[in-house]
Amino acid sequence: MNFLSLIESKREGNPLAPKQIESFIHDFTAGRIPDYQMAAMLMAIYFGGLNPQETRALTLAMRDSGDTLKFPKDKRPLVDKHSTGGVGDKVSLPLAPLLACLGFRVPMISGRSLGITGGTLDKLDSIPGFKTLLPTETIIENVQKVGCVICGQTERMVPADKKLYALRDVTGTVPSIPLIVSSILSKKLAENLDALVLDVKFGAAAFMRTKADARKLARAMVSLGRECGVNMRALLTEMTSPLGRTAGNWLEVKEAVECLNRRTGRTPVVCNDLRELVLECAAHLLLQTRKAKTLDAAKRMATECLDSGAPRAKWDEMIVAQGANLKAFNEKLSLDHLAPVVVELKSPRKGFVSQCDARIVGEVVRDLGGGRLTKESVIHYEVGIDRLRKPGEAVDRGSVLVRIHATTEEQGAKACETLRSAFEISTGKPRPSKLISEIIAKA
Ligand code: URA
Repeated sequence: MNFLSLIESKREGNPLAPKQIESFIHDFTAGRIPDYQMAAMLMAIYFGGLNPQETRALTLAMRDSGDTLKFPKDKRPLVDKHSTGGVGDKVSLPLAPLLACLGFRVPMISGRSLGITGGTLDKLDSIPGFKTLLPTETIIENVQKVGCVICGQTERMVPADKKLYALRDVTGTVPSIPLIVSSILSKKLAENLDALVLDVKFGAAAFMRTKADARKLARAMVSLGRECGVNMRALLTEMTSPLGRTAGNWLEVKEAVECLNRRTGRTPVVCNDLRELVLECAAHLLLQTRKAKTLDAAKRMATECLDSGAPRAKWDEMIVAQGANLKAFNEKLSLDHLAPVVVELKSPRKGFVSQCDARIVGEVVRDLGGGRLTKESVIHYEVGIDRLRKPGEAVDRGSVLVRIHATTEEQGAKACETLRSAFEISTGKPRPSKLISEIIAKA
């Protein structure tokens, strides 16, 4: 059957056979199917959907379109976390070394910023000397030796997704659940994991606007991941206000390091939601791999480990193994700011922060140069926001609501004006909203 007949058949609502899917993914990756025909197939899938068998066949064909990571046998389970992306989401940075200290191997293959959501690799690029592109052999070597790696997909890993994603991006076919599932899981399955925890975000600044859609996506990924032999769990988390107190590449690295710093019971927690999510992801993986019997016991294990300072030392080991200059990194960390201009937005009245709109914050950071408007955009690593006051916190008239790091006075002033509209200050204390609203352990 030629590809045109398959497009027509899918357009008419017929399911594709697994062999047909395997064959056209193979041909597309090899450059034997033109983009315009694949774009038509993607649109047929967008409207017609894929059943679970088709989604599985597509995912596996994409996974097998290139190299997969093959690790030596080892008693440390291979685990990872995937987030669908949010504003200020720097969870991967502290989580990878924490998991390594908890006795896991973590081949964390990450991505770059997309729209208003930040990308782990862009954050890491702000570390002097750090390499995000590693050959497969180095990824495996570092995971075995250090316990964790955070890097980008190699040229030879899941090439079908690279080509398909680029096409989806320009043909309006990104928001399709089976296409998202196959795109995300093909990359995660190429890591040959034992367990994966998903952070599926919903809300104004998330890929999935509603909790119902996030649940649908989470269930589809949990179900398919399990069928493929990976122990899966998904957390549904709210993305209406930014995670943590910073957004912007370097500023987020600083906050991640702060989260990793050794603490005693008296050390104040600088930001609770970031710490809570890091610990929650680690605890679920402990439970999924039977390293802990209950979620409470798993949380205690993760908390003790994080507070011990061992993951902070592991972070240094990981970044040095990936080429970072530790002295330059520590010098950079000691500076209050790197951006030429820092502006403070102050509260107009006494009260409580009742809203801080993550979408507006994400757009401001992107427009300051912290994210990409087009694929060619040049990232400014030092720009962004910090000292963000979070919903539920009390503020006085004149208290700083957020600091803006910009390259010019004009940019800083404009960002300050826009951010004013992101905040709502109310007289009564708002009801605290739950960060983690649901856990999906079964499809
Ligand atoms: N992230 C991915 O890797 N793929 C998608 O399709 C959407 C988000």
